[in-house]
Amino acid sequence: MAAGAVAARAGDLEPEWPCRVCGQRGGRLVIAHPEGRRWDVLRCATCGLMALRDLPPMEEVAAFYQEDYYRSEDGRRFPALMEAAVAWFRSRRAREIQQRCPPGSTVLDVGCGRGLILATLQRRGYRVLGTQLSLTAARAIRARFGIHVLVGELPEAKFEASSVDVAVILHVLEHTRDPMLYLRTLHRLLKPGGWLLVEVPNAGCPTACRYGLDWLHWDIPHHLYHFDWAGLKWALTAAGFEIATVRTFSLEYGPFGVMQAWLNRLFPGRRHFLYRHLSGLERDLPMFAVQAAVGGLLLPLALGRCVVDSVRSRGEVLTVWCRKR
Ligand SMILES: [Zn+2]
Repeated sequence: MAAGAVAARAGDLEPEWPCRVCGQRGGRLVIAHPEGRRWDVLRCATCGLMALRDLPPMEEVAAFYQEDYYRSEDGRRFPALMEAAVAWFRSRRAREIQQRCPPGSTVLDVGCGRGLILATLQRRGYRVLGTQLSLTAARAIRARFGIHVLVGELPEAKFEASSVDVAVILHVLEHTRDPMLYLRTLHRLLKPGGWLLVEVPNAGCPTACRYGLDWLHWDIPHHLYHFDWAGLKWALTAAGFEIATVRTFSLEYGPFGVMQAWLNRLFPGRRHFLYRHLSGLERDLPMFAVQAAVGGLLLPLALGRCVVDSVRSRGEVLTVWCRKR
């Protein structure tokens, strides 16, 4: 840094930063990343969306999602107990979709993970479509459930326009290179009056605002965009959707995320260790024993925190049901 230069800080205004979503200039620094300006997060002063300062090159992004992201042959990622929890959360999602649309309807799951929602709905008489970036995961879905999901980006998919009754895009939008293109594509694929269920981490929640990079869901550089309620509402409305309901409580993402932020403060230098250990990205059994014990004590408090935040509409996620106008 040049002599006399002042380090950038969260809140600084950068009048020339170009927003890739609305095309206007000017943004405020939200995260000043210690590993370099390219990983900074800025919030557009016009549309309110948050984004990495620069979009990383495609090859670099592909390297973040190497095939081992879904570790085992059948696409499982976590220990057995957590896998059971994931299956339960997916079956609840399937039920939520059923409440909006009867069997026989067409459901599209964008970035369909291990295909658990689609498999449940197919068993219950729905026509199911899915997309997935990982070839390994797509093959696992075909082998396990007999469902052919498209491998690739949604905007390139050859699905028929106005053919989908319900589209779901859960924890995907923040990973895309062009979230507006995804939302406009979904709008085109949905039938008039069709439903969209979107969920993203809530970058406006108190944990994100207070704990900076210790918030699990900044997930830089996997997450290229970040949404608080103002930003997501702007994006959905601009894409032609009418908002029906918004929730911010998530048993799946909330308490663990808050607990992990607290653990990060208690164990400096081991950021996101518990999550990384459970995901198989890091191994240190003595440290795991200590953090799992402390985390177990913190989890009920974290749950309480999430309940309080969600009552104020500032929980850890934004779950939005909206309709094609
Ligand atoms: Zn903008």
